[in-house]
Amino acid sequence: MKVKESMIGLVPYQPGRSMEEVKQELGLDQVVKLASNENPYGASPKAISAVSDAVQGIAVYPDGYAKKIREKTAEKLHVSEKQLLFGNGSDEVILILCRAMLNPGENIVTAHPTFPQYKHNAVIEGADTVEVPLKNGVHDLDAMLQAITEKTKIVFVCNPNNPSGTYVNEAAFLDFLNKVPEDVLVVSDEAYYEYVTAADYPDTIPLLKDHPNLLILRTFSKAYGLASLRVGFGVGSEALIQAVEPGREPFNTNSAAQAAAEAALDDTTFLQECTEKNAEEMRKFTDFLDRHGFSYYPSEANFLLLSVHRPGGEVFDRLLRAGYIVRNGEALGFPEHVRITLGTREQNQGIRNEIRRWLELDEPDE
Ligand SMILES: *Cc1c(COP(=O)(O)O)cnc(C)c1O
Repeated sequence: MKVKESMIGLVPYQPGRSMEEVKQELGLDQVVKLASNENPYGASPKAISAVSDAVQGIAVYPDGYAKKIREKTAEKLHVSEKQLLFGNGSDEVILILCRAMLNPGENIVTAHPTFPQYKHNAVIEGADTVEVPLKNGVHDLDAMLQAITEKTKIVFVCNPNNPSGTYVNEAAFLDFLNKVPEDVLVVSDEAYYEYVTAADYPDTIPLLKDHPNLLILRTFSKAYGLASLRVGFGVGSEALIQAVEPGREPFNTNSAAQAAAEAALDDTTFLQECTEKNAEEMRKFTDFLDRHGFSYYPSEANFLLLSVHRPGGEVFDRLLRAGYIVRNGEALGFPEHVRITLGTREQNQGIRNEIRRWLELDEPDE
């Protein structure tokens, strides 16, 4: 038996270390995972109770059209229901797009480093990935534009970018979008949309009207705190969604996820509290880093990519032994960095205290 040529040499996604694994291995009682940009405040209590209710119906297939969450999302974003494509996480929307659009020999254009799932899915479809280095940590849209050829089907703009946390501003994005050939799909992956505070972050939904080659990705996994349930969506032109939709599994979003997402959308207070706390924690963390001369990329998301001037693995190990699972930048294309998801106030204090001990800083613990 043989897998298709394009699969050879591919490795499955390497997740961050699990809390159980680390507890056992290092004999720790308490471990905090700040590695996958999940919401440290959990999910809305309303979403949790919606899941309990939905559990009663698990013998029945979910609504494949995801009608309720579709209506609510369409209304909120002022788009039509036919402009939405729901996925088992926005990861699956990326998979569906690649599956529906890419032929062997064609390519996608991405930044580098960026979210690895674009390339991963392109590889499986036998397509190439043209990776354009970030410029000062930010997408180099001019170079990405130059990289587009007649073989290019999709350009992925991860905004804010994972793992750098940096963003492309409105003027740059608009200029880019206006220059990309109309038959090339531009995907704006906005997984951290809810966290962004920059005033000049692009408001992409209204751009759909004049740009049928734009597709926006959003997710319930990050600020909404529903990562485990797997629900995200794409917003694009009706024609595009209609054309790619047959590549979607019939029951790809489950009923608990749909119910939770619907409740989470209604609980605007919870979302706002989480994003406000994140902004506050980001301020405190960057103040600390500034005070001690660290360099890092300014982040519009809920994580920070921190330069440590030594192999990222050393700092990763040190924090791990103290019970904090972060991401080793070596696996993310930033060998002398660690990526830290912002946690609760206490978790962030704990991490900063560990950094103080590591650097023997002359400053009391928080
Ligand atoms: C987390 C993340 C996603 C995937 O989110 P799911 O909806 O959980 O699949 C997509 N894009 C980026 C950039 C992410 O960081």
